[in-house]
Amino acid sequence: MSYIKKEEWTILPGEAPAIRRNCSGCRKSSIFRSSGNFRMNANGNKLDVWLIYRCEKCDTSWNMDIYTRTAPGMLGQDLYNRFLENDADTALEFGCRKEILSRNKAEALWGQVPFMVEKTFHEAKDVGETIDSAERMISAENTVLVERIVSVERILSIHNPYEIPMRLDKLLCRELNCSRKDVACLEDSGGLYIRTGGKDSRSRIPIYMEAEIRERLPVF
Ligand SMILES: [Zn+2]
Repeated sequence: MSYIKKEEWTILPGEAPAIRRNCSGCRKSSIFRSSGNFRMNANGNKLDVWLIYRCEKCDTSWNMDIYTRTAPGMLGQDLYNRFLENDADTALEFGCRKEILSRNKAEALWGQVPFMVEKTFHEAKDVGETIDSAERMISAENTVLVERIVSVERILSIHNPYEIPMRLDKLLCRELNCSRKDVACLEDSGGLYIRTGGKDSRSRIPIYMEAEIRERLPVF
């Protein structure tokens, strides 16, 4: 018998990535960080929105295009207000969006960005039966059931909504608190299997990946 545990992992950035670009103040390549502030400009019935970055050395500003010549109605009142109030979550979200960074040809320094993993756990199930019924079996026929448990399967649904460049083995090391060698051993012994979104643990995590981890338990 194997238990199946379903887990949803969502990788979220702790801050917007810094951007490397030429600075007109320093007259050379420099690092720009998000100020967390938006700038808005209304011209007739068209609206421009930028997120303001500043050079970490000389404070020269650079505005990243968020919306260009957009009808204000397209944004909706809620988003408009969040831009107006320099809402921190909104600044983080727009500073991390892949399509905005690439439209601005911004070289995002993702390697330095702290990230967190939000996890939710779904009801654990064993093959064909719910864990509840398995637990009831435990109390009814204790030793018989223990003999049947041979493995625990964890199915990880990994979401990477901002497509932070990261290899699966790096994420697993951190979240399972083990070394890259441990992950490689697990994979070599068939204990790690990528269902979708990559070919092995060295694959970069795309927007969605599904992996299976099998832990074999000693049979009594
Ligand atoms: Zn500068």
